[in-house]
Amino acid sequence: MATRYLAQEVARPVPQSEPLDARQVQNNAGGFVYGVGDWGQLQRFLVMGCEGGSYYASQRKMVRDNVGVLDRCVAMDGARVVAEARAISQAGRAMKNGPAILAIAKASLSPDVRVREAAFAAVPHVCRIGTHLFEFVADREALGGGWGRSMRRAMGQWFLGREAPDLALQVAKYAQREGWSMRDVLRLAHPKTLDAARGEVLRWAVTGELGSEALGPDADRAAHDFLEAVVRARTSSGRDLVRLIRDHKLPRECVPTEALLDPAVWEALLPHMGLEALVRNMGNLSKVGVLMPLSKTEQYVADRLSDEEAIRRSRLHPVRILIGLLTYKAGHGVRGKGTWGVAPRVVEALDGAFYKAFRNVEPSGRRIMIACDVSGSMGMQDLMGVPGLTPKVVGAALAMVTVKAEPRTFVTAFSRGLIPTDIGRCDSLASVIKHFEKFPYSATDCAAPMLYATANKLDVDTFAMWTDNESWCGQVHAPMALRHYRKQIGIDARFVVSAMTATNYSVADPDDPGSLTLVGFDADAPAILSEFAAGRA
Ligand code: CA
Repeated sequence: MATRYLAQEVARPVPQSEPLDARQVQNNAGGFVYGVGDWGQLQRFLVMGCEGGSYYASQRKMVRDNVGVLDRCVAMDGARVVAEARAISQAGRAMKNGPAILAIAKASLSPDVRVREAAFAAVPHVCRIGTHLFEFVADREALGGGWGRSMRRAMGQWFLGREAPDLALQVAKYAQREGWSMRDVLRLAHPKTLDAARGEVLRWAVTGELGSEALGPDADRAAHDFLEAVVRARTSSGRDLVRLIRDHKLPRECVPTEALLDPAVWEALLPHMGLEALVRNMGNLSKVGVLMPLSKTEQYVADRLSDEEAIRRSRLHPVRILIGLLTYKAGHGVRGKGTWGVAPRVVEALDGAFYKAFRNVEPSGRRIMIACDVSGSMGMQDLMGVPGLTPKVVGAALAMVTVKAEPRTFVTAFSRGLIPTDIGRCDSLASVIKHFEKFPYSATDCAAPMLYATANKLDVDTFAMWTDNESWCGQVHAPMALRHYRKQIGIDARFVVSAMTATNYSVADPDDPGSLTLVGFDADAPAILSEFAAGRA
């Protein structure tokens, strides 16, 4: 199994339990690594959040730490916080939108009026759907924010900045979340419009009454007709309901719960279902017998999932697809309710869609040694409440993006020592994950890959590592092992660390131009990795 390479030949080795230099800080495991600073940690928080906590810190503590970082960043440069939150959210680089929403909610309470204005201006770009709006309102309430004029104007603009049909969809689909309803928000924001179609939608959201007055010959009746269908759907069933769903593109949220046992209802919902909802509902589609092996729905789902352009547009994060894949392939729901027969075409399509959700990777063509941390701390906590979805498993899946894109890779895992694998670009995500799940828990030495490569005289242009940076048991530090490798083998190897938790740590030396630290879950990270490996970044 793991091969351990002691670093006795390294001149004057410093163990990881002691600082290598004055810039280092102590990580949660007691080892010494570098800090990435508040701005570095903010990026991690915005991309990864801290749901589920980490092996070393509870979710509550991690949230508290990251909120502290956010506060300090808002105080230092609130406009920059807003710009970063907006950019990451809009590009679909984050696994969850919640951290970006919290960031702009905090910034909207800054004492600096320019920061507040920037935050409110970012609301429609970060809070793109009703759920996000409720999150923003709930975050601001929790932070003690009131409903002053800027807040009312921003909230009003969220509604009035939309065309009537989209407005109708938002208020019907996201009637209430996070303890807030559209009615609550509208009563407080009180947006006013002279536009008849929008006015009718807003009135309906508050009073539940649909205007019978004439909208005028030129008025857009689409929103009115849609809301009428939403109301009728509440008491409809069977073929009537199916017709309403088809004709008015009603979302699943507007369908009575008991009707969701009807296969015809799901078939009617499918053509206008968003990609994220599709990925999330694959189990439901299977349980009612719509998504079966060799069925036309199997073909339809596979086609949707191979549409690269649509995947990009939907901002569907690759880890969401990974969750969909693991859940669907298991053949039963996360909470164990119901089972289904798995359609192999769908598994393949999800596997392919995962890669399409990342920014395009332009291969560097360099020799890349992939090193995934499989130590105990990477395998303990489940992300986003999905059993088995640990940083170890996600790290392996993220590494596969580089394996698929790059012509020359060598995939290894490490903990206390190094474990070579024969994983290649033809391996499926499911099989890679199965392979990684079985590694035993062990201590962490992030220097292991470089020491192994030195001892085995491997020609490596770039070491690419996925880790939580909680390295502690090595006899030498990772940057020291890297320098030793460069000197012994004569290759000026680069080192890219992808961080898998929202902490402040990196095992890479921030002052080494040949080293780079990335945010692991960032949908742009594999592209940046290859650019850096190629010397283009
Ligand atoms: Ca560890």
